[in-house]
Amino acid sequence: MAPSPSIVWLRDDLRIADNPALTAAVDRGGPVVVVCVLDEQSPGARPLGGASRWWLHGSLRSLADDLGRAGGHLTLRRGAAAEVIAALVAETGAGAVYWNRRYGALRDVDAALKSRLRADGLIVESFGASLLHEPWTITSGSGDPYRVFTPFWRACLAAGEPRSPLPAPASVDGLTVPGDALDAWALLPTRPDWAAGLREAWTPGEDGAHARLEQFVEHGLPLYHRRDEPAIDATSRLSPHLRFGELSPHQVWARVHAGLSPEAAANRAKFLSEIGWREFSYSILFHLPQLASINVRRDFDAFPWQEPDPETLEAWRRGTTGIPIVDAGMRQLWHSGWMHNRVRMIVASLLTKNLLIDWRIGEEWFWDTLVDADEASNAASWQWVAGSGADAAPYFRVFNPVLQADRFDPERDYVRRWVPEVDGPEYPRPIVDLAASRLRALDAYEAVKAAKSAAG
Ligand code: FAD
Repeated sequence: MAPSPSIVWLRDDLRIADNPALTAAVDRGGPVVVVCVLDEQSPGARPLGGASRWWLHGSLRSLADDLGRAGGHLTLRRGAAAEVIAALVAETGAGAVYWNRRYGALRDVDAALKSRLRADGLIVESFGASLLHEPWTITSGSGDPYRVFTPFWRACLAAGEPRSPLPAPASVDGLTVPGDALDAWALLPTRPDWAAGLREAWTPGEDGAHARLEQFVEHGLPLYHRRDEPAIDATSRLSPHLRFGELSPHQVWARVHAGLSPEAAANRAKFLSEIGWREFSYSILFHLPQLASINVRRDFDAFPWQEPDPETLEAWRRGTTGIPIVDAGMRQLWHSGWMHNRVRMIVASLLTKNLLIDWRIGEEWFWDTLVDADEASNAASWQWVAGSGADAAPYFRVFNPVLQADRFDPERDYVRRWVPEVDGPEYPRPIVDLAASRLRALDAYEAVKAAKSAAG
């Protein structure tokens, strides 16, 4: 008897190659239903920001084309995912459901669905696909999660080589079931269409991800020791591709262990340790699924954040603070949906320390505007800068944006690219006195220290 259909439920893994869930369904034999669900209803679901919605549209279009060429079909459905998948099982008579794991609040949805479908007699399997190491496998000697990056990453490296990437299935015996048209999801901005800069900068989809990786290996990795200089293209810009799973870290790992020039090979370990920060962020999220709303260090609950003044906040968002490196970063973000890592740290430090604005407000803006907005890395990084996170920068280390710019953009190429009027009379004066606001931030931190000592 021919096997019943299998369902592959894709989420943050919008690729065909190195996709364990898709491979399992193809290997089982029988027709395969590949589905992606736009879920804004399940408990813990956070609606995507505007830039991520733009990316998702491009990524799904590319995935549908790739699947079509292999003989498959991508079905789109909307709603609370558990109900959508259960309905699809009933409609198709599927005997198996496969997915790749996720690690935040939505894993409760997955666990409940798995029990329910298994109780109905279905085969349900989930796989590790978006992290090199499952978070529960990397623990300290006492069995607790690591709170400091360096020993965490050392333990990852000691855990052995990540598995080799899986090849794309040669063909997919696709079953076509009715679903939404991609355009009906209305993911692209229309009035106004603010996405011109995004279209210029990015090619969402699996092919675009691999092209970016190859370009980086050839041109960026040899320069990676200069990764802190925002004016040069020394970093990979793989973050949105990794965020949407168009590329897996296993594929990145394998690629940088094969055929590198000596200059590129010299930077491999440093580059992989940045992938390690992504793993670390996910490990933190796994242990604190509300990472985007709760301080990792609970003594920060006592921090006296200021009610943001709307004009100040708007100046930060739009890049009109009068602090050139900050304005350059915020405009790069608004234009292209991405910002250089060093500059992300500088703008986040200005918001949380000099302006004393709650890191959650900054996290929210990045969530809406970054094409790589990621539930683990965004929240973990904001908390890292704010001082409330795991392995956070010491609070008293307030970035001085002027000194940072002198050090990392000494020719001012980056600043002039994004803030062409910087030397003209119309460029505003700084919205905040950096020296005085630094001292104010250090005073505010006393509240955290007092709360900590009161707690004993
Ligand atoms: P590369 O230097 O080429 O690094 C390779 C990959 O490693 C990246 O693509 C990314 O997946 C990962 N990575 C690198 N640095 C970090 C880091 N510090 N933390 C976690 N992962 C890292 N990264 C996101 O992917 N999504 C976010 O929403 C996000 N928000 C951030 C918010 C703030 C306030 C800060 C300071 C950093 C944030 N980062 C975020 C981390 C980092 O800035 C980006 O991952 C990096 O700039 C992406 O550029 P790249 O791909 O060229 O990096």
